[in-house]
Amino acid sequence: RTQILPTTSSGAATVVPDGGESVVINLDHGDPTMYENFWKQKGEETTVITSGWQHISYFSDIKNVCWFLEPELVSAVTRLHKVVGNAKTDGRHVVVGTGSSQLYQAALFALSPPNASDPMNVVSAAPFYSSYPLMTDYLKSGLHKWAGDAYKFNKQNPYIELVTSPNNPDGSTRQDVVKGHKGILIHDLAYYWPQYTPILSPADYDIMLFTVSKSTGHAGTRIGWALVKDREVAKKMTTFIEINTIGVSKDSQIRAAKILQAVSDSCDGDESFFDYSYKLMEKRWKKIREAVDKTELFSLPDFPPEICSFSGRSFGQLPAFAWLKCEGDVDDCEGFLRRHKILSRGGKHFGASTKYVRISMLCRDSEFELFTKRLPAIIS
Ligand code: PMP
Repeated sequence: RTQILPTTSSGAATVVPDGGESVVINLDHGDPTMYENFWKQKGEETTVITSGWQHISYFSDIKNVCWFLEPELVSAVTRLHKVVGNAKTDGRHVVVGTGSSQLYQAALFALSPPNASDPMNVVSAAPFYSSYPLMTDYLKSGLHKWAGDAYKFNKQNPYIELVTSPNNPDGSTRQDVVKGHKGILIHDLAYYWPQYTPILSPADYDIMLFTVSKSTGHAGTRIGWALVKDREVAKKMTTFIEINTIGVSKDSQIRAAKILQAVSDSCDGDESFFDYSYKLMEKRWKKIREAVDKTELFSLPDFPPEICSFSGRSFGQLPAFAWLKCEGDVDDCEGFLRRHKILSRGGKHFGASTKYVRISMLCRDSEFELFTKRLPAIIS
């Protein structure tokens, strides 16, 4: 009798016979389906039609360092960063990737010396995004290796530090933490958008990663972009993608460009995409905090308000994930919630305690409603 809510692309609602009690709520992945209704309203404005003869060539712009990058995507990315004020684009090379996941791997390839006697250490402050260790080590590369929590890194060797801000899983604003001289930084800014965090100033780092997955919710389009200061690094990242997948889908780049332009356009109109998504996140965070406050079993991090330069609003972070802690003597929070048919990702995947779990805040309304109803009903 156990049911799982639909995760199909149509998102059609299923009939839940018993008020939802038998349903398994899957909040393990950060699948950003919550913006679907906004995009449904947009209809034709964001529809892309492609004829059979279009986008046939491997090449997009052979004069560009990233020769498979569609010029339309560059314009859309540059415009949106200017509208939002969340990153500097002047004097940067744009490198496109199949999601920012591919760009992460491209950056590791570009930043690890090819002939070193030992693999380059890769670190990030715990709790860190659970995919970093997996993506760093799955091919058992001789170029780089996962070296864990940046707070604990005390070797004198060179390292790459991933700075994720706002952070996945806990939503905190981050700076680099290793105080060495031999470090190279990659800033993963997937969540540095005004529905999740007050924008304080345009980010101005050497390598910055962004993705449509979390900015507009188009995870299935699989498009990310890197803003890279150094031409040689941008070239090596491009080489990685060339060897890996001989470029990035043009159809996807053109779709992503259309979506990003629509987001920029919406910022001149009545209701911007960021207004819509901010209000949705705010509503969800209010709800989850109310649910958690009804029980003694759980707690959530608090975030002090700051003024967002984009919206002028004063607010505390509204992270894409809730970093939920089991209070009291429950040590395995993931297992505890699973027994109540709530699937989450346990703290150990993020280099943290099993008393924590990461809960996706980006699901559809129906799942979120069930979750905030079920959570306070749990008794230990
Ligand atoms: N970085 C962070 C911090 C993420 O949370 C995610 C997605 N969960 C990614 C990168 C990867 O995103 P993409 O879909 O663009 O590969």
